[in-house]
Amino acid sequence: MPNMLVAPRRLSVQPRDRSRKSQSKPLPRSKERFRLSALEALAARIRVCIKCPLHASRTVAVPGEGRPTAPVMIIGEAPGKKEDQTGQPFVGSAGKYLDHVLEGTPFTRDDFFITNIVKCRPPGNRTPKAVEIDTCTSDYLSEQIRAVNPKLILLLGSVAVKKMLGISSVDEAREKIIERDGRKYLASYHPAVRFYREDLAQKIKKDFALLRRVLRKLRTANGRE
Ligand code: SF4
Repeated sequence: MPNMLVAPRRLSVQPRDRSRKSQSKPLPRSKERFRLSALEALAARIRVCIKCPLHASRTVAVPGEGRPTAPVMIIGEAPGKKEDQTGQPFVGSAGKYLDHVLEGTPFTRDDFFITNIVKCRPPGNRTPKAVEIDTCTSDYLSEQIRAVNPKLILLLGSVAVKKMLGISSVDEAREKIIERDGRKYLASYHPAVRFYREDLAQKIKKDFALLRRVLRKLRTANGRE
């Protein structure tokens, strides 16, 4: 039974944690507040959205979360079962894997804004349909990207790679920075695939190692960001 008005357990868009020892150069407070309120307004619209058929099968929508001024945006495919229940992105097994690859690095989830191509879980975790992808990205994802204005976008999985880069194979898109419309992208497989494609686990690790190198360069080039 869809419940379009149930709020997630916590605010999906988190302001920057100023108590954390961050290595990033802070934006002026007014800019950070502006981005936060734009993202909160979008999240509020997403939670009650009924613009595509996926609204009927969701428990709650999953707008995304992270720093409004994150240097990197991560875009996956769609919420899974746990995300659909909690309203938070990447909290299931794929999220655990994300935490795992960040272990031992200077980066935490606070360095990212994490979201998906579609914000509502497709029934049985099927691949989102073209009309669902087009509706959700044009109404919400494009605006989220504009609001966060990340220096780099990491695309996870073929749905995100195809939609954002027009490339149908993740293998073709990975291991390099690709520029489109003034934005920089990296691509990898969705972490969930490593459960049934053991051969891809090493490739995903390699791609996250590249992400870490690119992030370090970004920070060096921009005075710690
Ligand atoms: S997937 Fe996107 S467009 Fe479709 S109902 Fe959910 S928020 Fe709206």
